Amino acid sequence: MKVNCAYKFELILKPEQRAKCAQFVGNCRYVYNKAVEIQLRQLETKQPFVSYKELASQLVGWKKDDSSLWLSESPAQTLQQALKDLDRGLMRFKQHKGGMVQFKARGDGDSFRLPQLLKGDFDEANARIRIPKIGFVRYRKSRDIQGKVKNLTISIEARRWYVSVCTEIENFQPQATRNGEVGIDLGIVRTVQLSDGTVYRLDVNEIKKLEDRIAVYQKQLESNKTSRQKLAKLGKAADFDKKVPSRKRRRLKEKIANLHRRIRNIRKDFMFKTARAIAQKYGWVAIEDLQVRNMTKSARGTIEEPGSNVKAKSGLNRSLQRVAPGAFRRILEWQVFKAGGYVDAVAPQYTSQTCPHCGHIASENRPTQALFCCVKCGHTSNADVVAAGNILRKSRAGSDRL
Ligand SMILES: [Zn+2]
Repeated sequence: MKVNCAYKFELILKPEQRAKCAQFVGNCRYVYNKAVEIQLRQLETKQPFVSYKELASQLVGWKKDDSSLWLSESPAQTLQQALKDLDRGLMRFKQHKGGMVQFKARGDGDSFRLPQLLKGDFDEANARIRIPKIGFVRYRKSRDIQGKVKNLTISIEARRWYVSVCTEIENFQPQATRNGEVGIDLGIVRTVQLSDGTVYRLDVNEIKKLEDRIAVYQKQLESNKTSRQKLAKLGKAADFDKKVPSRKRRRLKEKIANLHRRIRNIRKDFMFKTARAIAQKYGWVAIEDLQVRNMTKSARGTIEEPGSNVKAKSGLNRSLQRVAPGAFRRILEWQVFKAGGYVDAVAPQYTSQTCPHCGHIASENRPTQALFCCVKCGHTSNADVVAAGNILRKSRAGSDRL
């Protein structure tokens, strides 16, 4: 069985390597935006989009053009990849899976990709990678990789550089399947609830603290803008331009980006630890099917989330406590799979309304967010535990019926 893996490591770059990487990223963005411009014009004049092949041959011309000679300082494959990315975006647009491709601004997914690797380009033994036109750069090796390296993506996030390594394992053999079954319900008060009663809670306090600090910096950004605008009106400063941030604004934005990164890491950490703990204990893991959940969300929204209509601010705080179901499921599937288990996704209908005792289904069975109380037999329990148990039962039954 073929399996794809992804790893991410921080790069340790010297100043001149950093400058080169930044230049490669900028060049990719330039090529991407130039191609977007062409395609937008095609769309406006109702002409078919220009193909990747045609753009790639135009790219050769851009590199020889006096106004963009510096493009040839980038490895050619990285610029072609930028065009490929655009092509994929257009494909999604044509299939109505996404909006029309847009211009990329600085800081908007700054990266470049190396699709063709030569032997030794990924030098794991010495914890370094080879980037064309730069040479070897070191990375912080936090773990060993598995499989054959397919491509590398170099990116910058909040002033730190990273390399993402995509690998493919040709003959992956999961370990022997293990016993033990469990159902999982993802919630707000109890982030991850297992049917065996175990609860995994995200450290919301830490996240809230970081969010508060972000709010402070955001206010500073805002007041900086208004005072700058005032000065500009009086003719004491240049006009305020969002595209040309001052040093102060850049610093504030960096601080905000750093805090966001820390929050992301807390969440990621939580998801990995929880998924690993579940994978080590259980061979059969039942979880709600996300896609179906999205479809039924509005119908059951009032029961599942009473108070989702209350003012936006408290809604925001509530969402902080959740894990992203899609991301969590991907991590869980991989961890459970590696441990020789299986993740089963079941349709979520009625999992929170069905009485585990007598089978009676009614929305009144759940009078509050936290409480389950059967109107027929009087069975009372925690609503999340009931939901997790129902998810497991559904999975056992192998159908959408409980
Ligand atoms: Zn009942």
